[in-house]
Amino acid sequence: MASYLDNNVKYVAGVGEARAKLLEKELGILSIGDLLSHYPFRYIDRSRIYSIAELNENMDSSLVQIRARITGVAYSGTGRKQRFSAFVSDATGSAELLWFQGIKWIEKRLEVGREYLIFGRPSFFRGELSMVHPELDLVEKAISQKAVSTMQGIYPSTEKIASSLGAKGFYKIICNAWNAAQDHIHEWMPTSIMQRYSLMPRKEALFNIHFPQSAEKLKQAQRRLKFDEFLGLQLSIQSLRSDRMSKNNGFVFTRVGECFNSFYNERLPFQLTSAQKRVIKEIRQDTVSGYQMNRLLQGDVGSGKTMVALMSMLLAVDNGFQACMMAPTEILARQHFATISRLTEGMNLRVAILTGSSKAAERRLALEGIATGEVDILIGTHALIEDRVQFSNLGYVVIDEQHRFGVEQRARLWTKNQQPPHILVMTATPIPRTLAMTLYGDLDVSVIDELPPGRKPIRTFHYTDAARLKLWGFLRRQIALERQVYVVYPLIKESESMDYKDLEDGFESITRDFPAPQYRVTVCHGKMKPQDKEESMRQFKEHEADILVATSVIEVGVDVPNATVMVIESAERFGLSQLHQLRGRVGRGAEESFCILMSGEKLSRESRKRLQAMCETNDGFRLAELDMQLRGAGNINGTQQSGMAFDLRIANPTLDADLLQMAKEAAVWILSADPKLEQQGFSSLRELKAKHAGKQRFDFSSIS
Ligand code: ADP
Ligand code: MG
Repeated sequence: MASYLDNNVKYVAGVGEARAKLLEKELGILSIGDLLSHYPFRYIDRSRIYSIAELNENMDSSLVQIRARITGVAYSGTGRKQRFSAFVSDATGSAELLWFQGIKWIEKRLEVGREYLIFGRPSFFRGELSMVHPELDLVEKAISQKAVSTMQGIYPSTEKIASSLGAKGFYKIICNAWNAAQDHIHEWMPTSIMQRYSLMPRKEALFNIHFPQSAEKLKQAQRRLKFDEFLGLQLSIQSLRSDRMSKNNGFVFTRVGECFNSFYNERLPFQLTSAQKRVIKEIRQDTVSGYQMNRLLQGDVGSGKTMVALMSMLLAVDNGFQACMMAPTEILARQHFATISRLTEGMNLRVAILTGSSKAAERRLALEGIATGEVDILIGTHALIEDRVQFSNLGYVVIDEQHRFGVEQRARLWTKNQQPPHILVMTATPIPRTLAMTLYGDLDVSVIDELPPGRKPIRTFHYTDAARLKLWGFLRRQIALERQVYVVYPLIKESESMDYKDLEDGFESITRDFPAPQYRVTVCHGKMKPQDKEESMRQFKEHEADILVATSVIEVGVDVPNATVMVIESAERFGLSQLHQLRGRVGRGAEESFCILMSGEKLSRESRKRLQAMCETNDGFRLAELDMQLRGAGNINGTQQSGMAFDLRIANPTLDADLLQMAKEAAVWILSADPKLEQQGFSSLRELKAKHAGKQRFDFSSIS
């Protein structure tokens, strides 16, 4: 059903081709509907005008509005350092407005002696108020324009968008989109559900989320839109679940055979922890039950999930089935392949690998081997879900680092055999168990709540650049002890060369301060050729390098027990779960390990909280909970990567747990009345379901 809202966002007045491209690339906004579903994360009260004297240093991260007259302007600096100042004052004090870009343009538009409404972020230097790149409106003009709402939404944005559309510009295109689209917004919620849960109509909710008519209406609007998101998600989860439960069609793994037993008795390099044993038992019970297993395994970084994966795959092989294991990055897939090949060497078991960059020979070996049934275990990246990958008899699937895969992608794996294979998804980004059961309603949950013995807690510190010399000294001492060091740079999108600059500069300065031949430094990032990446990982693994400079490609799963220091540069740009994952790369051997978080001096309150939390605890469950609470804030940059694979924009599973519960109840009820959403009144829910569920929020091609 095509709707006006599906039209490309470029048709909205004030958007056009170039901005539309930017909106798509930066925020995933393609259609007019997407734009209207891009909700403010904060509102400022445009009727509130501060006097200059009222502003103080404690407000420095919030946007405010002042009303002041321009008393003079000045240029300073030259060339690229040139800047333009406008001096303003009101009855209570004075301030300086500063521009570093677009100077000509702004100068032409400002008139000394006139009064403006000035909107921006106050900052203070030696007690003097200034605002960098504020937005200005002539007071007369502002008064003559009738505002739709006194609360103006502030929209999640990125640096690139902000340079083309400021807070005010963004608000304007939202206004234009609303004006054009408002008559095309239909209700998709059955009346019975709206009544039962006292929900505001959709159109009214969309209006009030963008242009709140009152605080109360805004609350109602938020509640309604959160409910929509949860309901869409729950409809998709619950229908998968009822599909699965209605069929008694799970493969039955009746025996524990040669593969499992010989591995367990002769090759297992350590004693399993009791948590690992318990989980293997749970999997064993599932796989003899006759139902298809769909199990989520949560276990903190380093808790030994890989061994559980391997041993359960051996069970499948013992019962005449093939197994596959899917990892989110090329590096991780190759590492799993190496580990598993090594552990099972000499056994009567064939293991193959397939990734996006597998060369012809490797690819042929894998594709033919699994089609004929010669290969027992296939390890790879998301390349495994492609259609041309045809198994002869796939019975068991492991997905590592589950948070990177959406509900729908998981479901695609079910079609790889006539009967769906058993599925184990593993994640090191744990969430509270009760929450997991609601959120991943189609999964059963296992937990490894114990680390292998002998691990020492990792000590975490937060430093700024001022401590860099000290840090270098510390690294030298660790290297002198024969330990190894990771230095990681943030990378939001690997396609963007800007992000590489930090890494390249960092690599250069590290090779200067840690010169060869005394120190051996290697580098690994997504722009390198796969074989070069592999070679540099090999060097580090085999201790032919002391320092690995890398991007967050090493975030998940890499295992080098001799590495004892993880330095994370610009740590404020990472989400909490990513930081925790990165930290999990050390502390894998018997030596004491360290995680050093480097950041600038100036930090937002949220970033400071994240870094503090990292220093205070090693507990992944606690961090995950905190992460979810913090992430409600709507800062897309840097945290998106750590986001779960659901398209939740406004709803927060931790904070809105009661609404989530209601939505789950509603979904179960709706599906029991109309499983396929075909009846009148329910059919429009299909649109809602498609919109909010299982949308992939991550571009896989960019992380391998
Ligand atoms: P994760 O759960 O983060 O995927 P891994 O499976 O990579 O963790 O395991 C982390 C490290 O712990 C690996 O070096 C692995 O060999 C080791 N390990 C796993 N289980 C045990 C155990 N029971 N006893 C000792 N070491 C273990
Ligand atoms: Mg792992």
